[in-house]
Amino acid sequence: MISFELSEEHKSVEKTCRDWAAKTVAPKIHDLDREHRFERGFLKDMAEMGLLGICIPEEHGGAGMDYVSLGLVSEELEYVDTHLRVVMSVHVGLNCMTLWCWGTDEQKKKYLVPQAKGEKIATYGLTEPNAGSDAVGIQTTAVRKGDRYVLNGEKTWISLADVADNFLVIAWTDQEKKKKRDHSGLSAFIVERAFKGFTSYTIKEKWGILAGNTGGFHLEDVEVPAENRVGQDGEGFKVAMFALENGRYTVAAGATGLVRACRDASVKYALERKTFGVPIGEHQLVKEMIAQMVSDYDAARLLWLRAGWMKNQGIRNNRETSLAKWFATVASERASGDAVQVHGGNGFSDEYPVGRFYRNCKAAVIYEGTREIHKIMQADYALGYRHDKPRRVELPAYER
Ligand SMILES: Cc1cc2nc3c(=O)[nH]c(=O)nc-3n(C[C@H](O)[C@H](O)[C@H](O)COP(=O)(O)OP(=O)(O)OC[C@H]3O[C@@H](n4cnc5c(N)ncnc54)[C@H](O)[C@@H]3O)c2cc1C
Repeated sequence: MISFELSEEHKSVEKTCRDWAAKTVAPKIHDLDREHRFERGFLKDMAEMGLLGICIPEEHGGAGMDYVSLGLVSEELEYVDTHLRVVMSVHVGLNCMTLWCWGTDEQKKKYLVPQAKGEKIATYGLTEPNAGSDAVGIQTTAVRKGDRYVLNGEKTWISLADVADNFLVIAWTDQEKKKKRDHSGLSAFIVERAFKGFTSYTIKEKWGILAGNTGGFHLEDVEVPAENRVGQDGEGFKVAMFALENGRYTVAAGATGLVRACRDASVKYALERKTFGVPIGEHQLVKEMIAQMVSDYDAARLLWLRAGWMKNQGIRNNRETSLAKWFATVASERASGDAVQVHGGNGFSDEYPVGRFYRNCKAAVIYEGTREIHKIMQADYALGYRHDKPRRVELPAYER
């Protein structure tokens, strides 16, 4: 039986998040974006609302809600500004959910609990200056020395690089396999900012998501205790891909929120602005742009909700999540371009939010699998070239 009705709990978390973002974030976002300023106070509020551990069980410090709630929150946050949804993507989707599923009891106690409570902020480090889509092209190494690993390398384009306390880092533990590009030589590690040899930086030349923090970090002989390895030695690629599947689910839901924001701003403007004696909403070509936003929003929302429903049921959803992410991010690019168009010359100014939407949407077409990577995945599923093999670790179904 399929229901399109949200539960009372879903409606409540959606409303809480929507009201908070409208009251607290919306009035400040124009200035924060213009000044490239990350507002830490938002994280404190999000922690108090339980958002930073929303779908992590209560026993691990989270709010114990389902995966649809994670999507709803992501959609609401990105409706106001992308940078807060990015926090959900890297902190919850890529990091906390991975630690919950792949971490040891000690790792959960030490790292997941404070992260899910929002006392510590976490992110994910796979990308390097020479490798993003090509994950086995990374160069970072982790050499075992007794009860520690010594990590060396650089990660770049890392969300919250200068904000986060903890980092899920992918590195080569088998140097022979690195030469052969055999991903079973990769491993995953929890690295703390406080570890000696860790330094981070912010990328200042960015032109979108300006209220968010994006940067990189260097690892110079960073000694990481062996008990900080996540998963078994050689499981780093699997850990990384598992993380991305949950991260890209939040990106799909977030980009859907951005389409809605474009739709609402365009509808408002089209009813107010007059040309040739009538509101521009009466011109068929303006209607066409708005109609596209309306259909894109509904389609994107249904796609991420299906993926969330599958997660709740414990059904493997790589294909569906990839499709939801690909569709929603491309739709958000289309919607924000058209939202600027509907606003005419005013759309080209910072006075209206649509210019910010236009700048913010693009990164999501690139991260967590580029548009091209998702296209290839979808074609490969259709052609029968790609099959999801059973994994040692799966995301658990949601059980109340
Ligand atoms: C704002 C922002 C935040 C980010 N946050 C994080 C983060 O927190 N953690 C993290 O690890 N990374 C993060 N990234 C990095 C992001 O995941 C990578 O940029 C992305 O994976 C693409 O990798 P790349 O930049 O190396 O591009 P490349 O992989 O070099 O790709 C360049 C172009 O070639 C295309 N291409 C590559 N391979 C193929 C192929 N086989 N077939 C067809 N086309 C192909 C791509 O689609 C793209 O168009 C972030 C990026 C941005 C912009």
